[in-house]
Amino acid sequence: MAYFPAFFDLSDRLVLIVGGGEQAARRVRLLRAAGARVTVVAPSFDHEIAGAIESGAVAAIERDFIAEDIIGQTIVFAASGADGIDAAVADAARAAAVPVNVTDRADLSTFIVPAIVERGPVIVGICTGGTAPVLASRLREAVERLLPSRLGRLARFAGSFRESVKATRPDGQARRRFWERFFDGPIADQVLAGDEHGARERMLTSVNSPSGGEVASGSVAIVGAGPGDPDLLTLRALRLIQRAEVVIYDKLVGPEVLNLARRDASRLFVGKSKGNHSKSQDQINALVAEQALAGKRVVRLKGGDPMIFGRGGEEIAYLRQRGITVEVVPGITAALGCAAATGIPLTHRDHAQAVTLVTGHGQDQDPDIDWAALARLGQTLVVYMGVGAAGEIASRLVDGGLDPATPVAVIENGTLPNQKTVHGRLAGLAALVRQNQIVGPALIVIGRVAALAQTASDDGYQTAAVA
Ligand code: SAH
Repeated sequence: MAYFPAFFDLSDRLVLIVGGGEQAARRVRLLRAAGARVTVVAPSFDHEIAGAIESGAVAAIERDFIAEDIIGQTIVFAASGADGIDAAVADAARAAAVPVNVTDRADLSTFIVPAIVERGPVIVGICTGGTAPVLASRLREAVERLLPSRLGRLARFAGSFRESVKATRPDGQARRRFWERFFDGPIADQVLAGDEHGARERMLTSVNSPSGGEVASGSVAIVGAGPGDPDLLTLRALRLIQRAEVVIYDKLVGPEVLNLARRDASRLFVGKSKGNHSKSQDQINALVAEQALAGKRVVRLKGGDPMIFGRGGEEIAYLRQRGITVEVVPGITAALGCAAATGIPLTHRDHAQAVTLVTGHGQDQDPDIDWAALARLGQTLVVYMGVGAAGEIASRLVDGGLDPATPVAVIENGTLPNQKTVHGRLAGLAALVRQNQIVGPALIVIGRVAALAQTASDDGYQTAAVA
């Protein structure tokens, strides 16, 4: 983390702003909104600040900045726009160990001011670590659109019931559930719709009913985490991950996705990794059921889509047998993620009228796959878990009649920053995997469409030309 996010309580605190122009005026506005006791120091002041001084809203020192001005200040803003002055302010503040921000100079600052979205007490700060202020303002616009205008009212409304909910629900977990249901439920909608009066009456009933409609049973959502890039999660997946109390995840689920879970959620790894004793499917099933029966909101997170080579079916059956509510949230399976990330159309009017997803490797023993039949289809084949057996798969397909010159592409870590795409011909598949040191997770695409794979080259992305 390049910067540590924190929110200062500046109400009634002394804050110094150095500068008398537009930059300083912007800081004055912001700090007055935060309730700070603002002093501005500059030899002269523009219209806006002069007005604020006149009205008594800010105190003024009408001369050049001197280091002693820092004394007693909670934080300091250098906004003179003059490099020499701003640097002197930064030096003096650092020497006095007072946090300092210099406008547009992250290098001189000990903290930076984020782009801000404000809804009453709800404040969202957006920071790009000083790398891209325009991106920060784009994000701010997006968040502005996302947050209902009455969100601040909703926060205050909830705040006004905090104590009574605490009193009626001493158990922390029950209390959290109550609030989660509240924010997802009709009373919150009513507040957001502007009917605070009606909402308050209903809320009183809800807070005072001992059950509040609370059911102590847990639930399981089997959620597809997609191929790796967290932006490829569905909105539903994201919402469920963020609300989970327990996340049980596989090896293919990377930290980028896992980090979306709440900080206090337990994360249980059940994946298979080299040299590690992996849990059997029975043990995984039992663990998921145990957590749900303990009343937890469980997300069973699987790479790609849970219903494609994900044993989702077995887990659903096991949980349903035990009366546990199960929901399945689809994810982008590796074939679709890799296709999009490499520009391979899995079907194509000229090249492929069908696509088959097939595993190159069974869970416990070699799968009984009729490669000759697949060869005869002459369509796109996408092989999951196939790199280890790439040579074997290629020769079985060739034996089955598939042209050894059929284009192939191998995509490793598809959609992730370290994605690697290589391509060649079916006859050379094993060598392609070996020479490029593909270790997985990787997909093999076999068929004429594979020739359309884009591979990284020095001048960006190029279409691989295979005649
Ligand atoms: N349920 C998953 C597949 C699990 S099987 C899904 O729908 O995608 C595991 C195999 O998926 C890996 O061996 C590899 O072949 C493939 N795979 C998963 N993620 C991948 C990725 N990011 N890039 C390439 N292949 C991937």
